Amino acid sequence: MEDLKSMTFEEVQGLIISLNEPKFRAKQVYEWINRGVNSFEEMGNIPKSLKEKLSNYCYISVAIIEKKQISSYDNTVKYLFKLKDGNFIEAVVMSYHHGYTICISTQVGCKMGCRFCATGKQGFTRNLTAGEMISQIETAQRDLEIRISNIVLMGMGEPLDNYNNVMRFLDLVSFEKGLNIGKRHITLSTCGIVPKIYSLADRKMQITLSVSLHAPNDKMRSSTMPVNDVYNIKELMEAVRYYIDKTNRRVSFEYSMIDGVNDSDSSAHELGRLIKGMLCHVNLIPVNTVEGSDYRKSKKDRLLSFINILSKYGITATVRRTLGSDIDASCGQLKGKYRKERR
Ligand code: SAH
Ligand code: SF4
Repeated sequence: MEDLKSMTFEEVQGLIISLNEPKFRAKQVYEWINRGVNSFEEMGNIPKSLKEKLSNYCYISVAIIEKKQISSYDNTVKYLFKLKDGNFIEAVVMSYHHGYTICISTQVGCKMGCRFCATGKQGFTRNLTAGEMISQIETAQRDLEIRISNIVLMGMGEPLDNYNNVMRFLDLVSFEKGLNIGKRHITLSTCGIVPKIYSLADRKMQITLSVSLHAPNDKMRSSTMPVNDVYNIKELMEAVRYYIDKTNRRVSFEYSMIDGVNDSDSSAHELGRLIKGMLCHVNLIPVNTVEGSDYRKSKKDRLLSFINILSKYGITATVRRTLGSDIDASCGQLKGKYRKERR
């Protein structure tokens, strides 16, 4: 069974023709999908016989609001969505002066096991379909009565470990008859799956690549991110340089500041030497402490010192605004809590 929401217009058309139905039905069905329907029943002008036929070949994915939290500080909204098979994922909507940004999930859980990450601690359940990624955006837009203009793939899961579905999602979401959110308004964050960074570069898309670096050398990085034992920093940097070369896009490096682990002046100098001269930007994020982890946020002076030192290497670094800190708005935290409450 295929997810109808993951299909392109041409694929819907192909399906309709193969079912011996008139071609104009494809347009109608596609319009319903784009209105974000959650079932065949909602497709008003489609005959019952066609709905029945369709339901033999495909289903419509959903992201149903199971829980919603609104930050009292900054109106950040965090959703816990329930999928058709009962799995839960999270998404966060943030409001900036230039519009609304949604942070969506790409997998249920994650295989990568980063030690500071709540999702990493939950293990991996399954990949999301492209349609399930779209559904998160549609549901949030409808619920908040807004139009979302920017997307970040920074929720649960590693997008490049679900490569084909994520590529399909990127194409669907930027399709003008679909949600019509341009590639320049999309950021994909990865822990560093090197071969896939090369594949992505060869597509020459105008999305922003965000690389979760979090440490300036292999020893330190491997102690928090197991993926570094598979693709080390040297290989990762070569891939990132290739990406910049092919796309001409500024890459951003995510660096979670962990007290006493990766936040010394010598780490800042090492980072400066590693990335100097690259078309890049550094986002410093005070680490969010997740349950079962000893990592604590760096002190403020460490952040300032990092910014200072990096600027000596010609690198701009900013501290990521921590939105929604009262609602556990960092990936995987809400789901973990929810499970516990329900026990
Ligand atoms: N798997 C992808 C995208 C999802 S994680 C990746 O790792 O890049 C999104 C971002 O949140 C990553 O930069 C990740 O390192 C960071 N992150 C995860 N847990 C965090 C925490 N507890 N505190 C701060 N940042 C965290
Ligand atoms: Fe997975 Fe990203 Fe969390 Fe690492 S930080 S475990 S790659 S979701």
